[in-house]
Amino acid sequence: MVSPPTGARTSPVQSHCPQATAPGAETGPRRSGPRLGAGKVANRPAPPVASGGVTVSPSDEGAYADRWRHTGAGAGSAVGDLATVARWVREASAVTVLTGAGISTDSGIPDFRGPQGLWTRNPGAQRISDIRAYVTDPQVRRQAWRGRREHPAWSATPNAAHRALVELERSGRLRALVTQNIDELHQRAGSDRALVLELHGTLFMVTCLSCADRTPMAEALDRVAGGEEDPGCLRCGGLLKSATVSFGQSLDPAVLAAAGAAAADCDLLLVVGTSLTVQPAAGLVDVAVRAGIPVVIVNAEPTPYDEVAAALLRDPIGVALPALVAGLSERR
Ligand code: NAD
Repeated sequence: MVSPPTGARTSPVQSHCPQATAPGAETGPRRSGPRLGAGKVANRPAPPVASGGVTVSPSDEGAYADRWRHTGAGAGSAVGDLATVARWVREASAVTVLTGAGISTDSGIPDFRGPQGLWTRNPGAQRISDIRAYVTDPQVRRQAWRGRREHPAWSATPNAAHRALVELERSGRLRALVTQNIDELHQRAGSDRALVLELHGTLFMVTCLSCADRTPMAEALDRVAGGEEDPGCLRCGGLLKSATVSFGQSLDPAVLAAAGAAAADCDLLLVVGTSLTVQPAAGLVDVAVRAGIPVVIVNAEPTPYDEVAAALLRDPIGVALPALVAGLSERR
């Protein structure tokens, strides 16, 4: 068993942001926590664009994160050391991991909100990630297709942190690898696809916004390279988009339910490289906290959830993750 303090403190979402209630954030006993069912999770402030599921809402972001940034709460309040957290990992039998863009920056894929983040340098770029702008503005779509063609994910390779999570899996301790990333670097590093839950979809597939036909991204990019600036669905003529979840779009309820179950049913939630400002993904921390599960956040910058973490690691992810799994023996 893990011996860090459990999530006894009040979660920021619970006490300060009732609108941002996490998906299925019900109280439940550890290791038999609530399973999140589809339809139980759509308590979002903004109405979903597509029916069903849960909406990623940019309206949650600013005010919510700012509230915490201004209080300074959490920053350094539970700063942990690698050796202690490594022991917690060693002693755990089921670790759920939640990753964000920060785990892939060492692979050359910029994050959104870090110091070199795409949105930090160019706040206007957020518009491309908004489904309303995408469906109404052909210029946004053309820009999006150009961005997809040039995306660093096509040439990126997994880094030491991705590989460390493969080690964690091989040791028999990985309950689930929940990721907000769309770059498939976890799978390419060797993580079991069945354990990877892609909350925000994948860049490697394209979906039709009208008939939901799914096709490989490579085929669409060939058409873009051939001169189609905004290729349409070959089946129904509808708008095509990467199979990723933009702001205002619904998450797959089954994937979100599986992620919620994994956050509620583990010994440790390891949160890596995310600013925890996008809901409902960030709300998985609440799910764990309410189930009494310790949360470790590995992130260079403060997050709105630092206050409820059992430990914060500010080390670079590429250093921290290999250290956390170094010498892990197979769990008996
Ligand atoms: P974010 O940009 O909001 O936050 C990333 C965090 O990681 C930042 O706080 C940053 O300080 C930290 N970080 C970056 N590199 C680090 C390092 N080497 N060591 C320690 N900390 C580091 O990212 P998010 O919270 O994941 O939200 C962004 C959204 O955009 C996600 O939903 C995701 O779908 C998408 N996104 C994905 C990718 C990808 O697939 N690689 C890249 C950019 C954005």
